[in-house]
Amino acid sequence: MVYLVHFAEKLHHAQHYIGFCENGLVSRFETHRLGKGARILNALKEKGIEYSVVRIWKEGTREFERSLKRRKDSKHLCPICNPNGNQANLIK
Ligand SMILES: [Zn+2]
Repeated sequence: MVYLVHFAEKLHHAQHYIGFCENGLVSRFETHRLGKGARILNALKEKGIEYSVVRIWKEGTREFERSLKRRKDSKHLCPICNPNGNQANLIK
């Protein structure tokens, strides 16, 4: 599964994080909470910036995660940043 995280505030000009997990989002975020996950999420935690998972591609593979990252336009995938529902729909 591939997921998109939106940060309440920008961190180093970034406001999103795209991640991949195989074992379900709950266990993945448990890992993040314990400080063993992605470095950027640890940085958010240290700065007290709230973040949340705003979109999930259940069938998303690691390959799909990489392709999303290469696009460098996470903002357009985000329902928070695009409240009118014009986010690109890349996968069913
Ligand atoms: Zn966003």
